[in-house]
Amino acid sequence: MLAHAAGRALPASLSGLKTLGPSVLLLLGTGMAVWFNRGRAFIALASLLAAFAGYSLALEFGAASFAARAVYAAIAILVPLNLLLALFLPERGVSHHFNYRWLMLAVVETVVVAWIASAGRSSLSGTAWQDLLEHWLFRSPPTPLAGRLTFVAALFAAIWRAWPRPPRTHTRPLDTGLVGVLIAFFIACEWVAARSAFNAFMAAAGAIMLVSLLQESHRLAFRDELTGLPSRRALEERLHGLGPVYAIAMVDVDHFKKFNDTHGHDIGDQVLKLVAARLAEIQDGGRAYRYGGEEFCLLFDGRTLAETLPHIEKIRADIAAYQMAVRGDDRPKDPEAGTKLRSLRSAEKTLSVTVSIGIAEPDDVLSTPAGVLRAADKALYRAKEAGRNRVSR
Ligand code: GH3
Ligand code: MG
Ligand code: MG
Repeated sequence: MLAHAAGRALPASLSGLKTLGPSVLLLLGTGMAVWFNRGRAFIALASLLAAFAGYSLALEFGAASFAARAVYAAIAILVPLNLLLALFLPERGVSHHFNYRWLMLAVVETVVVAWIASAGRSSLSGTAWQDLLEHWLFRSPPTPLAGRLTFVAALFAAIWRAWPRPPRTHTRPLDTGLVGVLIAFFIACEWVAARSAFNAFMAAAGAIMLVSLLQESHRLAFRDELTGLPSRRALEERLHGLGPVYAIAMVDVDHFKKFNDTHGHDIGDQVLKLVAARLAEIQDGGRAYRYGGEEFCLLFDGRTLAETLPHIEKIRADIAAYQMAVRGDDRPKDPEAGTKLRSLRSAEKTLSVTVSIGIAEPDDVLSTPAGVLRAADKALYRAKEAGRNRVSR
């Protein structure tokens, strides 16, 4: 990107950087997508890389040449189209996307585009393709109408995927990244006449995807997948950075083993999600973490126990009173029978659970966060002993 900013000031020997920048970013991103096994990111980056390489190659024949114009029209249509296809498929990793269908598609796209682009090179062949390129659907510049249409479709699909969904709103960095990539690619196509703008926005698309890949791996490490809460690892990091005043509450769902045995593990998972969503709403600067299994931790930095106690008590009472609507696992397999049944009775049932909470704060004896956490755990045990569904210290 810096190389583009420097623009003409670069000596001739370094002007190769202009195309090198986007190539390196896109290549790096593609490699990282394979390494992290992210199928959708891989398709986006591989498409961008192929598009950039293909167009740079075609430009060797001159920007006004048939080859360059044909490749330009092709990439403007195919890149969003590939993304649109990828957006409709579930994320199954690169190895899945490496199956023959995707490989075939990539080969077919490349061969067809190369064949069409080379068709115009002699005056004997390619008049049909020349005519096609003048068709209102494919005419350029700017971006051909067909490309705009696939872009709009892909953008809608990407936004739909990236949209936060209840019960807990945690968007995935890769999904939001794809929205950014599409927009950057579209601007690159629109500004294709200015070579450095095209390069810059192709590089931006690669950079967006790279950053999203990094964010995604951070999320995988520090977020709990089921509940969307920060994980125990995130808590442990936070414990190191605490000031002298803080309070810790350990939360454990009561008789959850029996709950699982009665209602099944899937319903148990749904209930954990709903409990987690409730805990995430904790007031007074508290932050909820999934400690593991059906255990959670509330951390109040800069607050004393006396200050936090009313909020903790409230969240315990809230959870106990919360009628959770869960989807029954007795849904019929036949979708038609399902609709009939749904109109007869509700497919959802309501369940409720209680939690026990142990709380602790640092004092003269308890000086380390790890010690306070152990104390909260002991207090939790006392809350269980005392009959559950209560807060103990
Ligand atoms: P207590 O009131 O003493 O806490 O009883 P309990 O049954 O909750 O205690 P225990 O710690 O023995 O059991 C925890 C159970 O929580 C074991 C397991 O079935 C369930 N559990 C742990 N993690 C998960 C999870 O991710 N999903 C589901 N569905 N259940 C889980
Ligand atoms: Mg437990
Ligand atoms: Mg329990």
